[in-house]
Amino acid sequence: MSFSSLGLAAPLCNAVTANGYTTPTAIQSAAIPAILRGEDVLGAAQTGSGKTAAFALPLLQSLLDNRSGARQLHGLVLVPTRELAAQVGETIRRLALHLPMQVKVSIVFGGVSINPQMMALRGGTDIVVATPGRLLDLLDHNALKISRTAMLVLDEADRLLDLGFSEELGRILALLPTQRQNLFFSATFPPSVQALADSMLHQPTRVEVLGEPLSKPDIAQRAILVDVPRRTQLLKHLILQEKWGRVLVFVATKYAADHVADKLRRNGIDAGSIHGELSQGARGEVLSDFKANRMQVLVATDVAARGIDIARLPVVVNYDLPRSADDYTHRIGRTGRAGESGVAVSFVSADTQAHFHLIEKRQDIKVALETIAGFEAVEEATPVAAVTDTVNGGIKGKRKSKKDKLREAAANAAE
Ligand code: AMP
Repeated sequence: MSFSSLGLAAPLCNAVTANGYTTPTAIQSAAIPAILRGEDVLGAAQTGSGKTAAFALPLLQSLLDNRSGARQLHGLVLVPTRELAAQVGETIRRLALHLPMQVKVSIVFGGVSINPQMMALRGGTDIVVATPGRLLDLLDHNALKISRTAMLVLDEADRLLDLGFSEELGRILALLPTQRQNLFFSATFPPSVQALADSMLHQPTRVEVLGEPLSKPDIAQRAILVDVPRRTQLLKHLILQEKWGRVLVFVATKYAADHVADKLRRNGIDAGSIHGELSQGARGEVLSDFKANRMQVLVATDVAARGIDIARLPVVVNYDLPRSADDYTHRIGRTGRAGESGVAVSFVSADTQAHFHLIEKRQDIKVALETIAGFEAVEEATPVAAVTDTVNGGIKGKRKSKKDKLREAAANAAE
C-alpha cells in the first residue's frame, strides 16, 4: 500500500517521502481515504500509531482543494496539553511545507502570554492547533473566528475529558458551524468519551487499530518487586546495568519528579524533571534537551509527559504506578513507537502489588513479578487500617477529591 493509492495528491505524497515515511501505518491506510471522502471518522488509536499524519494529511489536502481568496480558518485541532499542541502543530507545519501555497498553522495554548498569540492570529490563519481553555480566551478577545471551520479534529479525546475540559468543549462546539467534518481520536472509549463521540459525529467511519499486530507497539513489559525507599538506587542500578541510553521515568507528584532527578544527578546520572509547575520555557528546554539526547533520564508526571513524541525512546519506567489502567496504556505507549521495540518497567512494592494486579486485569495482561539481586524486597504490606497510599503520595482519607485533582491537572495541563 502506498500513500498515493490512498488518494493523496502529489504535494502531500512528496511531504510524506520527505518525512521519511515509506508505507502508511494501519490507521493512515484506514482513515485517510474516509477523511478524503468527507466522512466523519471515529479513530481508536494511541499515540505512536501515526495518527497525527492520519488526520494532518487529509486536512491539508482539503485545505489545498478549498482555499480561495482570503485566509479563513479551515481546520481546528483540539488537544489536551501544550506539549501535544506544539508537537501536532509542528508536524502539520512540516507536512505543509510541500504544498504549492503558504499554509499558516497557528499553535495556541495557555500558560504563556496571550498577546503574541493574538498578534500571530492577525490576518487570519488556515489551521489552529489549540488547547480548549486558551482557544476560548482568544475567542473572547475576538482574536479569531471559528464559525466557518470546515474540519474539526479532537485529538486524545479521552484525555481532554480526563483533564476536565468537557465544559470548554461544549462551548467551543456551540460556536462551530453545524456543517463541518469531524475527526475524533481517542486511545480509550469509556462511556463519557463514547457519549461525546455520539453527540459530535454523523455516521462516522470507525477506524480501530488498537488490537492489530501491525500497529501494536512491540513493548516488553516488566514488573519488579522493590521496597519503596530503594527505588532510586534500583533505577540507577538498572540504568547502568542494562545500559539504558534514554529513559522516561514516571512519578506521581511534582515533588517526586524533582527529588528523583536530583538524586540521580547526585549519583552521576544526567537527569532532569518535567512537571506542571515549571514555566513553559523551562518545560520546552528540558524536553528539547531530552529529545536531542543531551539528557539521559527525564523524570515526569503524567500530565507533563502526555502525548510527547520522542523518537527512539527505548525505556519507560513506572517509578510510581499509574492511577488507572488507561494511564498505564498511555505511559507505556511512549516507547515502542512507529514499529520500534521498547521496554516498560514497573516498580511494584508490597503496598502497590494489589493495584498492579488490577491494572493487569484491566489490561488483560500478566506480567511476571521479578526481583533483582541486591534489591530483594523485605517490606510487608501495611495493614489496611493504616495504609499509606504510595501511588498518590498521601494517606488514605486525606487525599484530595477527584474533582480537586482534575482541576489541578487541568490547570497544569493547559492554562
Ligand atoms: P503519532 O502517532 O502521530 O504520534 O506518530 C508517531 C510517530 O510515527 C511519529 O514520530 C511519526 O513521525 C511517525 N510516523 C507517522 N507515520 C509514519 C509512517 N507512515 N511511517 C513511519 N513513521 C511514521
